[in-house]
Amino acid sequence: MTQPPGTSTGRAAARHFDPQTRVQFLQGVGPLRAQAYERLGIVTLEQLVRHYPREWLDASRFVAVKDLRPGELLTVVGEIKQAAALRTRGGRGDFSATVGDGTGVVPCYFFGQSFLARTLQPGVRVVVSGELDPVDHRMSNPMFEVIEGDLEQLLHAGRLVPVHALTKGVAARGLRTALRHALDEVADQVADPVPPEVAAAHRLVPLAQALRAIHFPESAEALAAARERLAFEELFQLQMVMELRRRVLAEEGKALALSTPGALAARVLGTLPFALTDDQRAAVADATGDLARPRPMHRIVIGDVGSGKTVVALLAAAHAIEAGHQVAFMAPTEVLARQHATSLARFATPAGIEVATLTGASTAAQRKLLQARLSSGEPLLVVGTHALLEDKVQMPTLALSIVDEQHRFGVKQRAVLAKKGVLPHVLVLTATPIPRTLQLAWFGDLDVSVIRSRPAGRGRLVTRVTGEEKFPQVVDFMAKELAAGRQAFVVVPAIEEGGKLEVRAAESEVERLRSHPLLRNFKIGLLHGRLKADEKLEVMRQFQANDVRVLVATTVIEVGIDVPNATLMVVENAERFGLTQLHQLRGRVGRGEHRSVCVFVGGRMLTAGGRERLEVMRTTDDGFALAEADLKLRGPGEMWGTRQSGLPRLKLANFWRDEALLMTARESARVVVGADPHLLEPVHAPLRRSLLAQYAEALELALAG
Ligand code: ADP
Ligand code: MG
Repeated sequence: MTQPPGTSTGRAAARHFDPQTRVQFLQGVGPLRAQAYERLGIVTLEQLVRHYPREWLDASRFVAVKDLRPGELLTVVGEIKQAAALRTRGGRGDFSATVGDGTGVVPCYFFGQSFLARTLQPGVRVVVSGELDPVDHRMSNPMFEVIEGDLEQLLHAGRLVPVHALTKGVAARGLRTALRHALDEVADQVADPVPPEVAAAHRLVPLAQALRAIHFPESAEALAAARERLAFEELFQLQMVMELRRRVLAEEGKALALSTPGALAARVLGTLPFALTDDQRAAVADATGDLARPRPMHRIVIGDVGSGKTVVALLAAAHAIEAGHQVAFMAPTEVLARQHATSLARFATPAGIEVATLTGASTAAQRKLLQARLSSGEPLLVVGTHALLEDKVQMPTLALSIVDEQHRFGVKQRAVLAKKGVLPHVLVLTATPIPRTLQLAWFGDLDVSVIRSRPAGRGRLVTRVTGEEKFPQVVDFMAKELAAGRQAFVVVPAIEEGGKLEVRAAESEVERLRSHPLLRNFKIGLLHGRLKADEKLEVMRQFQANDVRVLVATTVIEVGIDVPNATLMVVENAERFGLTQLHQLRGRVGRGEHRSVCVFVGGRMLTAGGRERLEVMRTTDDGFALAEADLKLRGPGEMWGTRQSGLPRLKLANFWRDEALLMTARESARVVVGADPHLLEPVHAPLRRSLLAQYAEALELALAG
């Protein structure tokens, strides 16, 4: 942001403050403390007033000292009677004072704050908020404020007290004081990203008022209105990003319409040993419909584990290949790429579609050959990992990119893939049942096909929840399954993915099983994040061939692995996983015709709440319901790896609670983009600037120029 030089530098005395003024110029901050603020991401006054509280303590109930009751946050107004700095035997400097108001006296004790002796001297009038300890009848470390003027101006006690994220060098009281100054100086000047027409339509509280009230609310109602206003602003901007991206896709209508008679897809259908489910058929129709239009497809297929997304992708690929184009199928890991290649080939090869693979494990000779074929424009279906993204891989006739498990790919990689082809149709597959609010919020720029029904004819799948002490019974059962020819997975949580601890946890589990008398005759394999690509492939190959009978793995097997002969899934320390993850793990079994069992073993530290959460797994088989429960319990961050999504974290908005607000925000974004698709009208300048500041990468194309 450009500023005339004089505004943000120079002497503090005759300072003119604006939102871009650096915090160091605030009274009581200074250059040294400004460095501490910077650790909180705060450089300017605007960033300071945008540093919202994490919570608010309601210390707004005033009582007489004689009416103080233990266990409640209450406030008294009085005078310091006695005061003393003390030194404990351990050498800590504490401070003790009594506060009286004519009805009684309450002792207050401040641990490690002997410096308070300077301010809280006898005779000083104070407001003190705290909880009376039921045992020693005093307040420990109460919130307090010295009264100089008007009670209205309280910041630290006797009100809804804001609790902000702090850091070393930025204490709560100092931050609140700085905020008070900053709000007084610049709240009215902060540019509002919400256009006036939107604010008016939804009768939003003015921005300046919301900023003041979010930090220093006068009442619970004022706080709620401020929170809603600022949460709306976040959601609205996120939806603006989605709408703008959508518009780019619609406008850049350079995609070739891949409309074919569908003979190749029909041949694939003919080779399938099963009929498509209704949802699969609908998803195929959606995708082929998109491909036939002269604008790039941007669709996500959301289908629970085992719902049969691969076939849907293959049928879409068949249309592109029939039209003479190349298709790239991207998988997040080596193992999955191989497996996809195999399962695609099962139905593709008989129909005359060649499936090639390109991964980190491909030899130099294989690479060279394949790259030559791709460069020549030969219509091929290539399955691969990140290796496909390398510059030297040319795909001049790439028409369709299929991306498995999108959230593991950044926005950037998707863009690289899109750029390789002249016609970036993109089909994303995900096994994570994304709740509707998240679909809108984070994939609002994509069209969505949902596969809810599962193919019929699968064996029954039973879920059990148990504790570590039942390990012998679990092994008993495992031995029986193995003796009957079946296979088992044992999953241990990765404490730190790819780290030493992960390997150690997995290895000790292997040792425990190998040394068990009942399991001595069965080969046990190990799969973890530290293995080399070819080692992983070898273990998987042996497991797929039923040579390895038990596969001990960290969460690397989480997505996509298909071994229908595996009928037992044991998850150790199951409480460490999210419900969605557990559901995906469970989906690894029950894929063949045999009855399957999934056992979630709680660790020794399992709490009652943790147990209850696992019980939900036992009673619910609906991935969407579990995803919603996860969202409610843990928030979207855990599930989605917010960082990878390429979108900034929302500070106040909550997808679960704010669904209605999200819908309003979405509608508003549509109206704004419809009226001013490039945000060029002057009235939208603050919005444009705010979006570019936060979402530069995501909006690279949408707001260029
Ligand atoms: P996911 O959606 O988890 O990727 P897959 O595509 O791997 O699921 O399909 C799981 C298994 O179900 C595969 O073996 C696949 O061949 C099979 N399958 C797919 N569609 C059907 C169907 N309509 N009826 C029966 N089996 C199917
Ligand atoms: Mg799959």
